[in-house]
Amino acid sequence: MVSRSRPGTVYLTGAGPGDPELLTLAAARVLSRAGAVFYDRLVSPEILALAHHGAEMIYVGKEGGQQDEVQPRILRQLAAAAWRHAAVVRLKGGDPMVFGRGGEEWAYLAEREVPVVLIPGVSSAISAPGLSGIPLTLRGVARSFAVVTGHEQDGQHENWDAFRSIDTLVILMGVAHRKQIAGALIASGRPANQPAAFVERGSTPRSRTVTSTLGAIARGETDVESPAVWIVGEVVRQHEVLAAMSEELIEAVA
Ligand code: SAH
Repeated sequence: MVSRSRPGTVYLTGAGPGDPELLTLAAARVLSRAGAVFYDRLVSPEILALAHHGAEMIYVGKEGGQQDEVQPRILRQLAAAAWRHAAVVRLKGGDPMVFGRGGEEWAYLAEREVPVVLIPGVSSAISAPGLSGIPLTLRGVARSFAVVTGHEQDGQHENWDAFRSIDTLVILMGVAHRKQIAGALIASGRPANQPAAFVERGSTPRSRTVTSTLGAIARGETDVESPAVWIVGEVVRQHEVLAAMSEELIEAVA
């Protein structure tokens, strides 16, 4: 094991929503040079293939237990790796600072005087809806959006009333509790016929968009698979419009 006189740099790096083309140039460059790469479940094999072939590849997904239990171990491993390598990449799906624990990891490393550099990524919260023809803001339709977690909520605990006046809601990690959340959103004053969409595996070849309404989701009528970004609001109507237009375009070009 190489012993260093001071710790190397940890690059908290966004991997984007899945498609390797959506990686930043900075992310691709640090990946190709880092001595160790920490990655989790949502990072695609094509992106991992960009790592230096001699790099230590360290999987730190959830399988070893719940994230709250494994997180202290990840933090210790990251700090230790910085003492072995000049550059360590901590790869996260999407952007590290959006439900990616980037803030916690940065603080832990900084307290231990390990230098940290953030490389932002393309968040699924914004890119998955966009790729599916759903803008988060639209002139005359939506002037605001909020990104919210739907994780470990039975819909009763989150104060959905607080989001009543936000035009577009983007819910991450919301597939499992969608029924309860949709019910709570209706109870907060959103109309039951408000359109909603789930974009599964955005930016990957297996991407699928499921459109529905809050009422139908609350009744358990909408089949969805994780990971998916859930969009609630009038902007969802654009999906049909833009998807139809791009199909026409494809036909015209073919
Ligand atoms: N830091 C990530 C979010 C991590 S939370 C980001 O910025 O994108 C994990 C949640 O992100 C999933 O439950 C899902 O809601 C969403 N997600 C991540 N990648 C996705 C993708 N390719 N398509 C759809 N949803 C995705």
